[in-house]
Amino acid sequence: MKRTLKTVISLILCVAMLFSASAIGFSAADEKIYCDGNCEYYPTVIIPGLGQSGVFVVDDNGDFVLDDAGKRISAFPAYIELPKIISRVAFPVILSLLTQSDLGLSDALSDAIFMAFGINTSDLKAQNTGNVKTEKYHKPYSECTKEEQDLINSHIPFHLYETDLPKDHLYYFTYNSFGNHIDLANELYEYIQMVKKQTGHDKVNIVPISQGGTIASAMFEYHPEIKDQLHKVLFIVPALDGSTIIGDVFNGRVNFLNKDFLYNGFLGNLGLLDANTARLIEILFRILPDELLLSGLNAAVDTLVEDVMIRSTSMWALCPSGDYPTAAEKYLSDPEMADIKAQTYKYYQAQLHRFDNIQALLDEGIQVFCVAQYDYPLIDVGETWDSQNADFIIQLDSTSLGAYAANVGETLPEDYVQKNTYCDNPEHNHISPDRVVDASAGLLPDTTFYFDGQRHDLTQHNDVILKLAFHLIAHDDITDVYSSPDFPQFLNGRDVRNLHTYLAAAEEVDLSALTAEQKAELEAAVKQAEDTLDNNVAPADAFGKAEAKLLDILVEIGAMEAPEVKKDMPILEAISLWLFGSFGTDGFSEIFLSIFKTMFEAISSIL
Ligand SMILES: [Zn+2]
Ligand SMILES: [Zn+2]
Repeated sequence: MKRTLKTVISLILCVAMLFSASAIGFSAADEKIYCDGNCEYYPTVIIPGLGQSGVFVVDDNGDFVLDDAGKRISAFPAYIELPKIISRVAFPVILSLLTQSDLGLSDALSDAIFMAFGINTSDLKAQNTGNVKTEKYHKPYSECTKEEQDLINSHIPFHLYETDLPKDHLYYFTYNSFGNHIDLANELYEYIQMVKKQTGHDKVNIVPISQGGTIASAMFEYHPEIKDQLHKVLFIVPALDGSTIIGDVFNGRVNFLNKDFLYNGFLGNLGLLDANTARLIEILFRILPDELLLSGLNAAVDTLVEDVMIRSTSMWALCPSGDYPTAAEKYLSDPEMADIKAQTYKYYQAQLHRFDNIQALLDEGIQVFCVAQYDYPLIDVGETWDSQNADFIIQLDSTSLGAYAANVGETLPEDYVQKNTYCDNPEHNHISPDRVVDASAGLLPDTTFYFDGQRHDLTQHNDVILKLAFHLIAHDDITDVYSSPDFPQFLNGRDVRNLHTYLAAAEEVDLSALTAEQKAELEAAVKQAEDTLDNNVAPADAFGKAEAKLLDILVEIGAMEAPEVKKDMPILEAISLWLFGSFGTDGFSEIFLSIFKTMFEAISSIL
């Protein structure tokens, strides 16, 4: 049963982590420029995604709680004190296992969930009650200490990229992802006032990323005067209409509470565990009768949703507008929830006005750009995970402000004509080369960039997105998707980590020890890798080819070890499928009982 608990916790952890979108890092720089408002650049405020701020556990005196290594402990998304949790669940779990019935199992699981996530809960005014402290930077990146810069870069590998923007014009706004959403929007507004004062500029750029998009959206609604203070807005995969995953969870449409899903591939489909582990856990679920496992999981999920998530107005801001009314009716109708309901309703209005509020920025002459990603279904936590195009975490409709798209794996019909909802230039072709996306239906058809096959949680490893962002915050020459052949409207998803690792290994090679042939091969592979990195519009398979070629020669000359080829163990899958096919979702005790019963009947009929 411990495994079940661990599974629930790790699933929730994974989902929570995945919400954090991309990150953007800065290269270290120490010089202080202080232009007093007299330079060609605009200060830029990064508003990161979920979990991309340092939020740490503190004690009752407000001092940081440290782990065994003397490090501060992150409170996001949970604070797991394993010994305490085990001592709470051990006895009821053993008892329930032995008796194959719920002798305190559900209650214990609920308590365990609250022990872990309770640190992020809020009171009935939607104010956090847990002992946590968010690390704030009321100063530009250049003034941050080495530790602070390291923390920022751990969320955001900016140090790998260059930007012309002076580092004392870069600011990183941090916040608690479970925090009070209205307070966060006000805080962002005040933060921008501070940035203006410190730099002497009267306008700033903002870069809202993922959940950060909801905070910016709220600020536009509650502080419309902000439009006189912005130069440019660059949304990166913003959750402007929430995420369907939250919409599903808040409406009780949860897949892993569905037996046929849970026992039949759910964990593997998540894409977070390797196939064997997923199947093994699936088989181990049967250590308990299905009803018992399900009631335990249900109780745990109810606790997470009812005692933590629905008290966080920031979580509500991630609920799509289409899902809000039913979810609010379900969870916020009780009079004691009135205050939280009023606060969430306020953001619901901002969500409904998001197009108007962004249009108001455009009317003021502010440049608004957006980066959206597609061709991944949503992670399969919610029932509607594969019903629309998405980037694994957020549906495309939300991040693209309404672009129309075929579902993952499908294309627009042959006779499809682009909608031109927001583009009136008949010469523009806003249909993606793969015929999946119609960008003309999104609010910003000429300034939204689309990345095909890019996963939300790997956004920070797409160098093109980072290069684009760094260019846009420093320069004004790119005004739309037609400005630069390096940044057309439709680009490919990519992940530069392997190539960076291999190129670093190639750097270290002692060329004098190689044969002429090996040397030539290495040089060719390095060149191919560098060319691929330099080519923003490299075809989708170019990275795989360049990686394979470089790795081959590095292995041949002994500069890298050959990667282990993971052997599949289809046996576990076969066992799980056979169990599911033969015994449905029954637990082992039920299976043995039914086998025994069948044998007994067979023997009786013979005798
Ligand atoms: Zn300046
Ligand atoms: Zn257009």
